Amino acid sequence: MTAADGSDGRAGIGVIGGSGFYSFLDDVTEITVDTPYGPPSDSLFLGEIAGRKVAFLPRHGRDHRLPPHRINYRANLWALRSAGVRQVLGPCAVGGLRPEYGPGTLLVPDQLVDRTKGREQSFYDGEPRPDGVTSKVVHMTFADPYCPTGRAVALATARKQGWEPVDGGTMCVIEGPRFSTRAESRWHAAQGWSVVGMTGHPEAVLARELELCFTSLALVTDLDAGAETGEGVSHAEVLEVFGQNIGRLREVLFDVVAGLPQERDCLCAGALLGQETGVELPE
Ligand SMILES: [Zn+2]
Repeated sequence: MTAADGSDGRAGIGVIGGSGFYSFLDDVTEITVDTPYGPPSDSLFLGEIAGRKVAFLPRHGRDHRLPPHRINYRANLWALRSAGVRQVLGPCAVGGLRPEYGPGTLLVPDQLVDRTKGREQSFYDGEPRPDGVTSKVVHMTFADPYCPTGRAVALATARKQGWEPVDGGTMCVIEGPRFSTRAESRWHAAQGWSVVGMTGHPEAVLARELELCFTSLALVTDLDAGAETGEGVSHAEVLEVFGQNIGRLREVLFDVVAGLPQERDCLCAGALLGQETGVELPE
């Protein structure tokens, strides 16, 4: 089993996020990885934080050419695992569904609701891969979609840095690329859901299917369509707020990397125990 601390020379921790996260690191090495599911969004960029080796993967490609519904999520998670990654951090921009979750709020969700459609969301779909491997049927336990250890480290780290995070909540993931209508936004809020995003699923379930820890750090960039009198959310607004907060989000992320345990004892590490998948996971 690969050491989660990257002590075997490979990356133990993966961050699915754009160049704003790794461009400040010294000695970043770019590697290309192909997978049985096709190419990932981009190269992996390997760097080191506090002695831990980290693989960064720009979710939308380095030039942001991929909309959320065109991302090859299976290839992304498989590529990270192939590089040695066992713990994944998934920062993302979301819309707030409650008035108190304004722009700049950091939420570490503990639940998600899948409102996507047409995305490949399992490695175990029984379809033969190009290399001839055909999976068996696997029904993954997914009651708690996020790594409890990763969540705890993320929350403690944000608090330590003076950024009072929201502990828990439900991320509703929509297909996109359009934003919600006012009616959809009202409906999402009425369900008691906390934030709405476009990439948090199937990232989380695919990570679990590969026995990877996955922790989502959701940065609220807008109030979705929820404000009855507002113009509704625009892409420019999302980019602006994300840009304003990228610095402190990066600081939190780097400290989370440093704070993740070297050895895993969470449910994620044994998610496939006792299940016959027919698919050999990359070491
Ligand atoms: Zn875990």
